[in-house]
Amino acid sequence: MALAGNRKSKGQARDVPGNGAAPPGVSDIESVRHYFDSACDRLGVADDVRDVLREPYRETSVQIPIRQSDGRIHVYTGYRVQHNGARGPYKGGLRYHPDVDLDSVRALAMLMTWKTAIADIPYGGAKGGINCAGDLLDEQEKQSITRSFMDKIHKVLGPDRDIMAPDVNTDAQVMAWLMDEYGKLKGHTPAIVTGKPIQLEGSYGRESAGGRGLTYLFREAAPKIELAPAGATCAVQGFGKVGSWAARVLGQFGVKVIAVSDAYGAIRDDEGIDVELLTALTAAGGKVTEFGSGEQIPAEDLVAVECDILVPAALGGMIHEGNADRVVAKMVIEGANGPTTPAADELLSDKGVYVIPDVMANAGGVIVSYFEWVQNMQHFRWDEREINDKLGTAMRRLFREVDAVARERDLTLRKAAYEVAIERVVASAKMRGYI
Ligand code: NAD
Repeated sequence: MALAGNRKSKGQARDVPGNGAAPPGVSDIESVRHYFDSACDRLGVADDVRDVLREPYRETSVQIPIRQSDGRIHVYTGYRVQHNGARGPYKGGLRYHPDVDLDSVRALAMLMTWKTAIADIPYGGAKGGINCAGDLLDEQEKQSITRSFMDKIHKVLGPDRDIMAPDVNTDAQVMAWLMDEYGKLKGHTPAIVTGKPIQLEGSYGRESAGGRGLTYLFREAAPKIELAPAGATCAVQGFGKVGSWAARVLGQFGVKVIAVSDAYGAIRDDEGIDVELLTALTAAGGKVTEFGSGEQIPAEDLVAVECDILVPAALGGMIHEGNADRVVAKMVIEGANGPTTPAADELLSDKGVYVIPDVMANAGGVIVSYFEWVQNMQHFRWDEREINDKLGTAMRRLFREVDAVARERDLTLRKAAYEVAIERVVASAKMRGYI
């Protein structure tokens, strides 16, 4: 086994020259806790209640030793953080990235609690991660790490306890291995993970859901800033599952995608990038800089491209104090989790940029995960049109609900979204009687 992942030291993805990543500073957990604490201050949440919600319920950390082809053992660390289960089973993705550590998984788990509450689906929040370079592992390495992780954490999982899903550098294939490994231990249990292949009781529309979901919010929000979709221009940071699907569906509404980046660089073409062709390239393992048309630009300039809509769809902390004043887009739609630090959020707000925050914008992923879980529990299947219609209904409803609170309380969408989420989680925890 080559174990490419082993050659990649922690943080290497962020060391790709000029990849536009955040400088060391505000961590993802600090950002999420800042948004949480300030919402609690505004809502007057009591300190003891806040203490319960501020920290995860359970954190599991496991050793994943994998023997390399040279005979040496490399030890990865896998995490599953279950933040809050007041509203239902824990739910959240599994990330393979060298930057994964306990704090980053804690942040993502907490975000999931708020996201599932805002989407009003019966889940709590969790997240998992392994500190391996998922994009550099070969299939055998990835499978070994995945199965080993499941073997070690299955006791805290279950279709009524905690359900994983894809995130950065994990996909339907990884979910299939997880389901298979869990099945060896407990019997066939498709509802143990979502985002599975269609052939293995996955749901139609799940792969596109994260990116597609944010486009429904775009359509709700665009009239508020008098932005016509047809002819609007867009830059997309990160061209994976969320970024590529957001670009493709926005393109169907007539939005012109003029700049795109991935972990290795960025391209720009003011005539418009053919996102279907670019998706074919990246799906086959290519980098966006290998796309034939347009010009290469420094990746850190992606956020500053003159356009109407900026979609960060890569990692956390990519819009920070050092580059937020360079954002010229009228609207930022956060496909990624935690892409904007609190200081940057203030700067964008002062500039009048309309920000649709992560906990709303990328909720489509977990909403269709919920649909997949419901289908698995009942062993039936909806068709793709039905899934997309239900997703649209759910996204439009969550937008209307958060937007109404934002207007009523004179808040940004992010502040309103956190308030809605905290109120719902506190109400459920009180009804259960543990706060
Ligand atoms: P992915 O692995 O499919 O794609 C990630 C993309 O980001 C890749 O194109 C990668 O090259 C790029 N990237 C990595 N580092 C970068 C950098 N420094 N600069 C620019 N691009 C960079 O992952 P994904 O599932 O699309 O997830 C992307 C984001 O969306 C993450 O923040 C994730 O948590 C969030 N999200 C994912 C889902 C889902 O269902 N997959 C749902 C909600 C939110």
